[in-house]
Amino acid sequence: MLISQPGLDLLQEALNHLGHGFTTLPAAENPLEDERLRPVLLEVAARMRDNYPYHHPLYAGQMLKPPHPVARLAYALAQFLNPNNHALDGGRASSALEKEAVGEIAAMFGWKEHLGHLTSGGTFANLEGLWIAGCLQPGKRVLASTEAHYTHQRICGVLQIPFDTLRADTNARISLPQLETELAKGDVGTVVVTLGTSAVGAVDPLHQILPLARQAGVRVHVDAAYGGYFRLARLNGQAAQAFAAIPEVDSVAIDPHKHGMQPYGCGCILFRDPSVGRYYKHDSPYTYFSSDELHLGEISLECSRAGAAAVALWATQRLLPLELDGEMAERLEKSLSAARQLAAWLKARPQQWKLLFEPELDLVVWAPQGLSASQVSRQTQAIFDRAAELDLHLAVTQLSQGGQWPELDWDQPRVACLRSCLMKPEHLQWLPEICQRLEQAYLSTSSLAL
Ligand SMILES: *Cc1c(COP(=O)(O)O)cnc(C)c1O
Repeated sequence: MLISQPGLDLLQEALNHLGHGFTTLPAAENPLEDERLRPVLLEVAARMRDNYPYHHPLYAGQMLKPPHPVARLAYALAQFLNPNNHALDGGRASSALEKEAVGEIAAMFGWKEHLGHLTSGGTFANLEGLWIAGCLQPGKRVLASTEAHYTHQRICGVLQIPFDTLRADTNARISLPQLETELAKGDVGTVVVTLGTSAVGAVDPLHQILPLARQAGVRVHVDAAYGGYFRLARLNGQAAQAFAAIPEVDSVAIDPHKHGMQPYGCGCILFRDPSVGRYYKHDSPYTYFSSDELHLGEISLECSRAGAAAVALWATQRLLPLELDGEMAERLEKSLSAARQLAAWLKARPQQWKLLFEPELDLVVWAPQGLSASQVSRQTQAIFDRAAELDLHLAVTQLSQGGQWPELDWDQPRVACLRSCLMKPEHLQWLPEICQRLEQAYLSTSSLAL
């Protein structure tokens, strides 16, 4: 069941409550009463069955997390008015909620003052971060690791900022010696540090990168689109030190539509220095009627933005405040535990499985044991297909030849591996079931290993 009757009743009650704010208006037609809607909507429902069951705990594949019920309901509620957070004229209430919600995210990163706003997603958040970086360091290079999100290079292409990659080490983190060599050249403007890489969930050593960057006068932009909310959770080892260093950086991108349980598209960009707002300011004659202060439309590169996204985020943070040791932190820690338990389960079966990275966050990458890259890739694909038949949905990722698997015969440049983003807290409880189905998929494909 995707939604229960009590959920729909609650939405109706909240809509009535909202409607009471507009009772002085004369009644207007209700287009929902058009009987032609019914067949169309049922056709849409039938077409939408052609999807993986993203909402279910046995979906443990790509980086997809269902919105929290309060986010779904608040979004649905808000889009009956459909405010536009470009300007106060388009969404007065939802703009206020956006400022509050974004302020709470900034506070999670240790910032009392900040400049920031929601975006359509992580890509646009990073684009704004690098755009400001380019304004402040004109002509200088942006560096990001080979494991950084692929869009950084593309963004720099769009912004015409020179871009270079840094080699990642065997833990998929930025290699410090290479970073030092590049910084010494004197032409670097910004380093992109990823806290939670999209492929394997690796955490760059921000606490070690910051002093090097500061000494070289270089900006630090953190891409925490995926990992940002783990700021609230208890992390191990170097990941804990890296997350603790976030308050010192210049800008952060985070995706509430990933771990923040929001519907797409909800990203967020934050700057530590509010004065960068001067680069955004413009004076389009037709958009500002109701405010003298620097409002959201003046500090965003995008024009129209969904007010409903801000409403849903605010509601979610109202229910689950961004607190250490709160319910939100507990949910994230369940994901961490699920990933650690899956890793331990795989390592306890070394004849069958190869764990490729010790999980730093809640992503696990592993493969069936085998002699050659081509044979492992074949069995990976077969396990992926067989598991799907058993209703367990995993993802496949390609790993390039590197230090992670020296004993493998690399008869092709890349090897297909299995990947699981254990983003739902329910994954912890479902882990025995997930492992059992994984084992079954392995056994029914192990003839491929011969
Ligand atoms: C998802 C992701 C992005 C891109 O964000 P979108 O919301 O998909 O545009 C950028 N960086 C990292 C690390 C990501 O995980």
